[in-house]
Amino acid sequence: MSAAAEKISVVRAKILRRDPDQKEFLQAVDEVFESLTPVFEKDIRYLEAFERLVEPERQIIFRVPWVDDKGVQQVNRGFRVQMSSALGPYKGGLRFHPTVNLSVVKFLAFEQTFKNSLTTLMMGSGKGGSDFNPRDRSDNEIMSFCQSFMTELFRHIGSDTDVPAGDINVGGREIGYLFGQYKRLANNFTGVLTGKDLRWGGSLIRPEATGYGCVYFAKNYLAYKGESLEGKRCVVSGSGNVAQYTAEKLLQLGAVPITFSDSNGYILEPNGFTQEQIEHVMELKNVKRVRISEYCAFSETAQYFEGKKPWEVSADLAFPSATQNEIDEADAKILIANGVRGVFEGANMPSTNEAIEIYKSASVMFGPAKAANAGGVAVSGLEMAQNSQRLQWTREDVDSQLERIMKDIFDNSLAAATTYNLKGDIQAGANIAGFLKVAEAMIHQGCV
Ligand code: GLU
Repeated sequence: MSAAAEKISVVRAKILRRDPDQKEFLQAVDEVFESLTPVFEKDIRYLEAFERLVEPERQIIFRVPWVDDKGVQQVNRGFRVQMSSALGPYKGGLRFHPTVNLSVVKFLAFEQTFKNSLTTLMMGSGKGGSDFNPRDRSDNEIMSFCQSFMTELFRHIGSDTDVPAGDINVGGREIGYLFGQYKRLANNFTGVLTGKDLRWGGSLIRPEATGYGCVYFAKNYLAYKGESLEGKRCVVSGSGNVAQYTAEKLLQLGAVPITFSDSNGYILEPNGFTQEQIEHVMELKNVKRVRISEYCAFSETAQYFEGKKPWEVSADLAFPSATQNEIDEADAKILIANGVRGVFEGANMPSTNEAIEIYKSASVMFGPAKAANAGGVAVSGLEMAQNSQRLQWTREDVDSQLERIMKDIFDNSLAAATTYNLKGDIQAGANIAGFLKVAEAMIHQGCV
């Protein structure tokens, strides 16, 4: 073993040993480490930068006390992991879900580092959230929780310091309550959160951006293979913001979205969802906040499969847009057996590392989350730019910038794969392209 190879394996073992209980974080680190090995072999300074990068610059864990509608005191745990400021202010969403813990927030912040770098905009990385479960909570309870959460978070964020946004269960309503409390405590009106309402500082296309961007990414990948989205049957998982706008853009570009899901099961429209049907899903999920099974009362053609995942449906392309590890090795095998030839990740880390191996051995087109779902944070970056200018750009302007960014992400990932002789491996190319920009900045800025 060469001296470089030996150092690489020592550092890898050291990183994987440090937080043995943080399985999601280690899964994300391991996936990236693997594809960066040729980069480390070329210049050992990159390995040193990586070793620093996996240690968050700052981790904040705090108490979130609040009182429910019955007058009972509740307490949750709040998190903000400020991962890297090499390229700009920390940037990344907030997730409210009972599964949130330090490992989950760290994996999300780690992924965000590469994703934000790939957008070509100047944003560092972070992530936060709470183990708070908003299910069946009243609007008043959501507001109380958000206000308490921000009462601690506000001292750690700022428009040039750390700019949170939404993620699972944090949408326009929650961003509003969080922003209101920030403004009250900080006594200033700044672009400290993105995903704001259009009428008070938000950007057009921000709600649509992750889903639209994922479909633009798929379009570029298919074009590279001499194909198009036209007529492709697409299984979409999830039914939140990402899934909804993925389905809408697929439909607009001639593809056929056929499923949505939630943690209880999935719905299938065998002939594809129409725009009106997608809007009905939006109404059920965003306004009524009910289970996806309720959709069947609206459509005679829909079928509901309780306790099942949509990967069992025969299709051409898959857009996992629900949550981490929703496709394991067995699911990946089922997907491929059902004819899927492209997987584009709308959610963060929806495929296990074993599932990714299955995609690779079947030569499936694979758009990894860091690249394919970067459209959301990209438009957050555009929202920050608009806030700094105190202007609001047009829908066409933001959408065309999003489309260009998604094309640049695909092209830059492909170029990095080519430079490192990785034969069109977009997953490795995205990791390398995202990492190199951060690593160069870290090296320029000294040992910080
Ligand atoms: N939560 C989204 C993501 O995973 C968006 C983050 C943001 O806009 O800051 O990229």
